Parts: sequence; structure tokens; C-alpha cells
Amino acid sequence: MSVDFLIETAKKIQVVINDNSSEIEKLDQEIGDGDHIFNVQRGIKLVIELEPIIKDLIMSKALNQIAMKVLSGIGGSSGALFGTLFMTMAKGNAIDEGVDYKKAIEIFAEGVEAVKQRGKADVGEKTMMDVLIPVSNCLKKGVEDDKDLKEILKEAVEVAEKGMFSTKDLLATKGRASFLGERAKGHIDPGARSSQLMIKTVCESVINS
Ligand code: ADP
Ligand code: MG
Repeated sequence: MSVDFLIETAKKIQVVINDNSSEIEKLDQEIGDGDHIFNVQRGIKLVIELEPIIKDLIMSKALNQIAMKVLSGIGGSSGALFGTLFMTMAKGNAIDEGVDYKKAIEIFAEGVEAVKQRGKADVGEKTMMDVLIPVSNCLKKGVEDDKDLKEILKEAVEVAEKGMFSTKDLLATKGRASFLGERAKGHIDPGARSSQLMIKTVCESVINS
């Protein structure tokens, strides 16, 4: 994983999120306050705009710049949570010596664990964690079992989709949707949908490279 890869992937994610923006907006209007798509689109735009500043930086510094931008530039829960993800990845052990796929999976998993601590939400609470935690576990298990990278990533895409759909029938116990009680049932969580789309894009861009 290089800084170029981060930038190119952010550009691909921008296209996918824009293509699905009305659906994500509607999901947060149904069980949140409607701003999730705005937060996500703003975050992606800010990261892409960092290109001239980060393109020649070492990985830890580039990820740190991304984290700071996301933390300071995006409102809502997503800003703090995605900021934590990148901030933790920036502190990954020895990442400036090169990030192969095993290292990338290791730092992503550390990032997801930090987001879990920060938001205090686990699987089953109708949040983005219903996507991020199973995906992180699937990636780690794939490495442990010494599976082929493309197989691991294909599985991660499926796990992300399953996690996203699982939020539909859950009661929300964290975030704004928790105020709705039973009324949140029947709606997919917006953060789970946006996270699933981002994960799918990252995985497919590696699979097709
Ligand atoms: P806000 O809820 O502050 O308006 P956003 O609309 O940007 O922020 O993000 C909403 C998404 O954030 C939710 O759909 C959910 O996936 C996620 N979320 C909310 N609270 C938490 C939490 N404590 N832990 C993890 N994810 C959360
Ligand atoms: Mg919102």
C-alpha cells in the first residue's frame, strides 16, 4: 500500500459514494438527521484535496494528515470515528518501512478496534461497526489461514454486504437511531451502507489490480 494507492482509492470511493448518494441520504433521513451523506462526501473531498500535500510524504505522515483533516473537517459521529481509524493506522508499527497486504490488514484491524473503543459500539447495535468488525475479523482470519489475498478480499466484500444488510432488522442502541426504538427496525443503517460501499471499493480495486 502506497500513498498513491490511498489517493487513487479515495477517488474511486468518491465516484461510488456519489453514485449511491441519494440512497445514503434517504437512510439517514429515515433513522438519523440526514447529514451522513454530506459528512461522508465532505470527508472524501477533503482527503482528495490533500493530494499535493501528502503525495511525497512517508506513510505515517500521510495517514496522519488524512486523520487530522477528517477529524477537523467532518461533523457528526462519522468525523470522530473515521478520524480515529486513520489516526490509529498512522501509528501502525514500522509502516514507513513498507506496507504489504498483511501489514495493511494489521493496521486496519487496529484502527477498527480503536473505533470500537471510541464509539463504544459492538456488533449488533445497528452502526457501521456491524460492517467494520466482521470485515476486520474476516481479513485477520484470512491472513492467519494463509489464504490467497484475492480470496480474502472477495470474502471481505461478501462479509461487508452481509453486515450491512444485518442492520436492517436490528434495534439501534448507539447513535441517533437509538432514540427511535422499534421505529428504527426495517431500515438499513446509513453508516453501515457507506462503510460497506467503501470497503467493497477498496477490496475490488486491489482484486482488479
Ligand atoms: P451523526 O449521527 O452525528 O449525525 P453521521 O450522520 O455522519 O453522524 O453518522 C451516522 C452514522 O454513524 C450511523 O449511521 C452509525 O453507523 C454511525 N454511528 C453512530 N454512533 C456510533 C457509535 N457510537 N459507534 C459507531 N458508529 C456509530
Ligand atoms: Mg447524521
